[in-house]
Formats: sequence, structure tokens, C-alpha cells
Amino acid sequence: MAVLYVVATPIGNLKDVTHRAVETLSSVDIIACEDTRTSSVLLQHYQIDKPLFSFHQHNEHHKVDHILNILNGGQNLAIISDAGMPGISDPGFLAIRAAHQNGHTVSVIPGPDAITTAVVASGLPCDRFTFEGFLPPKKGRQTRVKAIAESDITSVVYESPHKLIRFLEMLNDFCEDDRWVCVARELTKKFEEINRGLLQHVLEEYKQRPSIKGEIVVIVAGKEYSE
Ligand code: SAM
Repeated sequence: MAVLYVVATPIGNLKDVTHRAVETLSSVDIIACEDTRTSSVLLQHYQIDKPLFSFHQHNEHHKVDHILNILNGGQNLAIISDAGMPGISDPGFLAIRAAHQNGHTVSVIPGPDAITTAVVASGLPCDRFTFEGFLPPKKGRQTRVKAIAESDITSVVYESPHKLIRFLEMLNDFCEDDRWVCVARELTKKFEEINRGLLQHVLEEYKQRPSIKGEIVVIVAGKEYSE
């Protein structure tokens, strides 16, 4: 039986790759990438030259059979995404489940992900938290934001820069009192920003900015939290 390696890659800073990730990507027969052009930058940086194929949210169902054929043929395969841990708001889950169901070994090579980096950086309680991933753009969005506002524990949300203000406004509408939040932007990159404070203040600050760019995680403290 072959091995499906699930390899975490940097969320910004190329130096955040682990030794094991480089070793593993150098030793497998083939690598499934979310976007072969994006991953080529990382792979070339570490002089890894392996056959690649693309495996992304629009072809994930279709490519699972291809992955199983490779594993059934005895070849080891690694999955990587554009950034962080495959399967976390990224393709991976279907292939991992199929590999388990077909008796192959699944081996995760841990490394960076935006969730833990952001929640730890926030200085908000991280003993328990809910990972909300990306909220739905329309239907069901209000229900999810209301649940975050009512949660007793920290929530972690992946948000795009152009929806940040709308998200913070909706959250503010559902929060009975002001709320501790943190906007973690461009983590591990040149313009990394950890912007924590009370929601109304943080919201007003972003409204003053001419534009908001980059990758963002919003951390929302539980409703009883204060400092
Ligand atoms: N698989 C990734 C992980 O392990 O975190 C997540 C991929 S998801 C498609 C991309 C989202 O993750 C971004 O929109 C943002 O919310 C978050 N993210 C990824 N890299 C980030 C970074 N360097 N700084 C802040 N947020 C980041």
C-alpha cells in the first residue's frame, strides 16, 4: 500500500517550510498542487523537481480517482495547497478520506496554518475556539455571524479584505456590548499586522483606511471576555 502525504507549506514566508516537508516533497513520486504555478515557486526555491498535477476545488471530485489510481499503483503522492495545511479551507478532505477508505496510509507533515498562527498572535483566549472558516457570502451569513456574537468562546474567521468592514459591521450589530477582536493580516509576510482592540474602535479604524489589502483572519473573543 502506498502513502498519501499531506504536507503543510508556508502561509507567506518561504522560510517557514519544515525540514520534513522538504524531505517528503523530495522523496515522493508525484505532487498534487492546488495551483502548479504557485507551488512551483516554493518547489524551485527548495530545488524539488517532481511531476506535478493540479488538484483544486473545481476538480477535486474528479481528481480523487486519479489520486487513488496513483496510490493503487504503489506510488507515493503528496498533496500541497497554495498555502498552509491542505484540507483547511482548501482541497484535501476528499482525497484523504478516499485514501483511508482504500487502505492507504495517510501521513500528515505538520507546519504552518493561518488559524493557529492568527489565534495565538491575537492574545485572545485560545484554550478553546471555534474555527468558522470562510462565512457564506449571502444565504446563512447572518445566522453564522449571530452565532459568533453569541458564542462564549473565541471564534476564528477567514475573511477577504473587501468584506472585512461588512463583516465587522454585522458583528457589531449582533453584539450586545462592545467586543474584543483581532484582525490578523498578512501573517508571516513583510506587512504583517496584528490589530487588536474593541470591535467599535477597530471597525472605525478600518473605515478610515483608503483600502484594505492582503489575507485576513478575524479573531472574535467570546461574549464574556474583557480585559
Ligand atoms: N489552508 C490554509 C491554512 O492552512 O490556513 C487556508 C487557505 S484559505 C484558501 C486562505 C485564507 O486563509 C485567506 O483568505 C485568509 O483568510 C487565511 N490566510 C492564509 N494565509 C494568510 C496570511 N498569511 N495571513 C492572514 N491570513 C491568511
